[in-house]
Amino acid sequence: MKNTEIIRINKENIDLEKLQKAADILKKGGIVAFPTETVYGLGANALDEDAVKKIFKAKGRPSDNPLIIHISEIEDIKKLVLEIPKKAEVLMEKFWPGPLTLIFKKSHIVPGITTAGLDTVAVRMPSHPVAKLLIKLSRVPVAAPSANLSGKPSPTKEEHVIKDLKGRVDGIVCGGDAAIGVESTVLDITSDVPMILRPGGVTKENLEDVIGSVKVDPAILVKADPDLVPKSPGMKYTHYSPDAEVILIKGDLEDITKEIEKMRRAKEEEGHRVGIMATEETKERYAGGIVISVGSRSNPETIAANLFKVLREFDEKKVDIILAETIEETGVGHAVMNRLTKAAGYKIVRV
Ligand code: AMP
Ligand code: MG
Repeated sequence: MKNTEIIRINKENIDLEKLQKAADILKKGGIVAFPTETVYGLGANALDEDAVKKIFKAKGRPSDNPLIIHISEIEDIKKLVLEIPKKAEVLMEKFWPGPLTLIFKKSHIVPGITTAGLDTVAVRMPSHPVAKLLIKLSRVPVAAPSANLSGKPSPTKEEHVIKDLKGRVDGIVCGGDAAIGVESTVLDITSDVPMILRPGGVTKENLEDVIGSVKVDPAILVKADPDLVPKSPGMKYTHYSPDAEVILIKGDLEDITKEIEKMRRAKEEEGHRVGIMATEETKERYAGGIVISVGSRSNPETIAANLFKVLREFDEKKVDIILAETIEETGVGHAVMNRLTKAAGYKIVRV
């Protein structure tokens, strides 16, 4: 067990001395969790092999799943990559700081452990004021995956990080809830037509407005086919999974809610404790079960923001099955459905 220092920071009024403590841990080769605008991250000096090893150990993360390097200034990217393609420059100008991760050819100073042996490197500049300042104060590029135990839903609240990682990491910077709630979009910019490897906070539509045509990794599109080998190594593992079994119900909204009611009754008769992941528009339609609204269909950003928190709430309520409504796969709905499909381990009922 490690002695985990809990450092509370108000993002509206940052206490520099307190944040410097967290930065010093990073500088000395330790690991620290911190808030970002997407989800909480678990950081280490990206150029220090031993420090990065500690991230994999604390999370129980498979070593072939590469990490994203977080920077605080555009200057910082130069030493990490071999070249910055023109389209990347335009995207960095438009979307950084923010929830967009770009894949570049890596320079020799980035150790293989950080990129899981790939000759490419993922880089992002977060916009969260605490994340930005922490990176700046540490004076190192910060490798940071999500700050959860591997396989669990990503952490969007400080309680989630404390539950998963207290005793396993050197420090946790608590700085309020993550606003976006799903991880960054990962875009491979090393080929002529850039390819989305993971949908996230920046949508395909947003990207195409700026650089024209963008492809989507078929492994994301064909959601029901787990045999497809994804280009982004992390996408092959079970992910975002609560303890309960998750089943998605897809179809027209009327049919979805009717099917969920039917399945709920059947499962309860079998003695199960059933959770229903509903929306503001549908939550009154269920006559039983533990119903939690994940947000509003007319504002899918609210669903993204609440998704991981609600999955964890179902575990706290000790349900053993979660019947989840699906939403439209446009805009941020694409990222939401990608995470939900993985949480369900591709268990989908079509009605
Ligand atoms: P996490 O930080 O837990 O959200 O995981 C980082 C994500 O970025 C994983 O899905 C990785 O597979 C992906 N990623 C990181 N580096 C690379 C890379 N060099 N090429 C492709 N995907 C990457
Ligand atoms: Mg993760």
